[in-house]
Amino acid sequence: RAFEPLLSVEGIQVRYGAIQALRGVSLTVGKGEMVALIGANGAGKTSTLRAVSGMLKPTAGRITLAGKDITGLKAHQLVPRGMAHAPEGRGIFPNLTVTENLELGAYLRKDTAQVRLDMDKGFSLFPVLRERQKQLAGTLSGGEQQMLAIARALLSKPQLLLLDEPSLGLAPQVTETIFRTLREVNATGVSVLLVEQNAHLALNAAHYGYVLETGEVVMAGPGKALLDSAEVRRAYLGE
Ligand code: ATP
Repeated sequence: RAFEPLLSVEGIQVRYGAIQALRGVSLTVGKGEMVALIGANGAGKTSTLRAVSGMLKPTAGRITLAGKDITGLKAHQLVPRGMAHAPEGRGIFPNLTVTENLELGAYLRKDTAQVRLDMDKGFSLFPVLRERQKQLAGTLSGGEQQMLAIARALLSKPQLLLLDEPSLGLAPQVTETIFRTLREVNATGVSVLLVEQNAHLALNAAHYGYVLETGEVVMAGPGKALLDSAEVRRAYLGE
């Protein structure tokens, strides 16, 4: 791995009552690295992201961010430490405008002038959001809502961006735009941990990938190497 470690997940387990969703997942994300987590429905991808972002507490294992133990910290404690999560279902507020949603992404920041500039950067990444600043977020298309979720997450100035299924329900062209922008964001130094059903898309974009199966990592490697692996091609690329 050509990247210095930023996030390190060691043997985390997650349970929902009697269901053990994660059976000891370990993975790392480097500084400036884009990492994809792929796997079938129910493999535990979302649970992994939720444990990392503090939305749920692992029953075992350890998570560190930039060398500091963050295991068990809540989402609101992780935002000031540089983590932002664009969750499954996008988590935007439908009855607030685009601008108001973006302002919420910056709620911890006191540097109002810089927030304006960063908001403008967000509009440059996704020009369609600029045109729709005053529109209620609930009236945006699915793709625009996903763009808003990403732009909002970026307004907390994260070192690590967590994304759950950014391509879900979107047309290929829209997905293409979103992934192109994610690569641009990543190229500015923001690390990305991405959960995707669309293995082809995710492994093409990511430096490194992990394959989850029934709550365990069963394969890991550079994105391109996984794309070339016969096992991945058969199980996840439908070949
Ligand atoms: P998907 O792509 O369908 O979201 P996933 O890989 O993200 O799948 P998870 O959502 O993490 O997988 O689910 C892992 C396992 O935990 C599954 O067996 C799922 O049914 C179970 N699970 C997830 N959330 C809950 C919950 N709130 N209560 C009970 N079981 C859950």
